[in-house]
This record gives sequence, structure tokens and C-alpha cells, in this order.
Amino acid sequence: MAVWVPVARELRHNCIMEAGFQCAGCGEWNATNVDESAGRRQSYIEDCQVCCKPNILRVEYDTASQEVFIVAVLE
Ligand SMILES: [Zn+2]
Repeated sequence: MAVWVPVARELRHNCIMEAGFQCAGCGEWNATNVDESAGRRQSYIEDCQVCCKPNILRVEYDTASQEVFIVAVLE
């Protein structure tokens, strides 16, 4: 079951937000950069830096709380 994880914004450079996701394969945390300008709902694939499995990341940006939510599922 996929779990939505709120990711606190740590750094912000223009529209790039530093965030993290938990690998759906091994459970390790990975860093990722979310490009706010790409839209409030995004989906892209990023390989886990630990087990190298491709994770499909679904990203939602909540404009009210200014938080990013990321859920990772295996391809
Ligand atoms: Zn992994």
C-alpha cells in the first residue's frame, strides 16, 4: 500500500525544491528535487540510490501548506 509522506521543504532555489522519498523497494530515503514550475501534480521515475530499483514518484504540491507530498511505487 502506498503511503503519502509529507516532505518538509529544506532548500529552495528558484522553483527547485529539495525533497525526499522512501524507496518502495528497500525503504531507504532518497533525495530528489521537485521542480515546482512543472506543476502541482507530477509523476516521474527516479532510481533508488541504494538498491537501484526504479521508483515511480507521484508528487503533489499543496499550495496552502506549501508542502510537497511524494509517494513512491515500484515500476
Ligand atoms: Zn531502494
